[in-house]
Amino acid sequence: MSLLTIRDLRVTYGTGTAAVRGVDLTVAAGRKLGVAGESGCGKSTLALALLRLLPPTARLTGEILLDGEDVLTMKWGRLRAVRWAGASIVFQGAMHSLNAVHRIGDQIAEPLLVHRRATPNAARERVGTLLEQVGLPAARASAYPHELSGGQRQRVMIAMALACEPRLIVADEPTTALDVMIQAQVLRLLERLVTEQDISLVMISHDLAVLADTCDRLAVMYAGRVVEEGPARDVYDAARHPYGRALSAAFPRIGDPASRLAPRGLPGDPPDPAALPPGCTFHPRCPVALPTCASQDPPLAPAAPGHRAACVLTTGSPA
Ligand code: ADP
Repeated sequence: MSLLTIRDLRVTYGTGTAAVRGVDLTVAAGRKLGVAGESGCGKSTLALALLRLLPPTARLTGEILLDGEDVLTMKWGRLRAVRWAGASIVFQGAMHSLNAVHRIGDQIAEPLLVHRRATPNAARERVGTLLEQVGLPAARASAYPHELSGGQRQRVMIAMALACEPRLIVADEPTTALDVMIQAQVLRLLERLVTEQDISLVMISHDLAVLADTCDRLAVMYAGRVVEEGPARDVYDAARHPYGRALSAAFPRIGDPASRLAPRGLPGDPPDPAALPPGCTFHPRCPVALPTCASQDPPLAPAAPGHRAACVLTTGSPA
């Protein structure tokens, strides 16, 4: 059975922005799903929705089944129990997520104590073990966030995410703020730890090369929808959607910062969610668009074994 099943998830912010428009995805226990796409395509909204961390004015519909239980209809008490212990999240900017005036050891211990996973003494010991697991000396527990480098702070975030032994970790651009060498080290660490501990991973990144290197499967989002999904190497090496192809061409190597906002070979920007073009939302930027693409919005459909794409060119003849 899948650990995570997302069915027809739709998220509309209080401003009326439809940021996620009908996403269906599954993640099997112990597997890693990468979610790629340019800025503004709805990746972070999807990540935050998984733990219901969106602002209260956001409207969510559909289903997010975590081990068969719908996160969207959970009572608050149950949701609090599931956060950290069932699923935890690693954000991009550790400096914003860590509390500047508390020692990092106390911050890692907090979920353990809140979830009554450990007595204060046992929690101190577990903090030391967790720090060592993420490659930091146990004695760093007494440090404050500003005494650590960016890479070390991100390791602390990973230790916090692992603390309560969750079944799922959601990592939203976990290394983007770091330099390329450190990015690779932190990604390797995260990948190794989730593999060793049989934790499922949903990893969000704009960088398809990073995801192809880390994940089993890849989903490519565009304008709030998944337009392609399949085995990671297959999506990276042989994308079936023109947007997937453009992204993999834009990220020939891991962490290329120049590609961040303007992927090479792909002019223009993703559409404003308030003014989506008719038909396939990618057609105005698509190098191979047909006239029919301006009026037809194809659903995700099989494009190769275990690989789906939403494009008339790969999944069926245009009407
Ligand atoms: P990504 O992670 O792919 O960059 P986001 O999920 O951050 O995409 O954003 C998707 C869309 O939702 C964007 O148009 C963005 O402006 C909008 N959005 C994100 N957060 C909010 C918010 N709190 N209120 C209103 N709109 C938002």
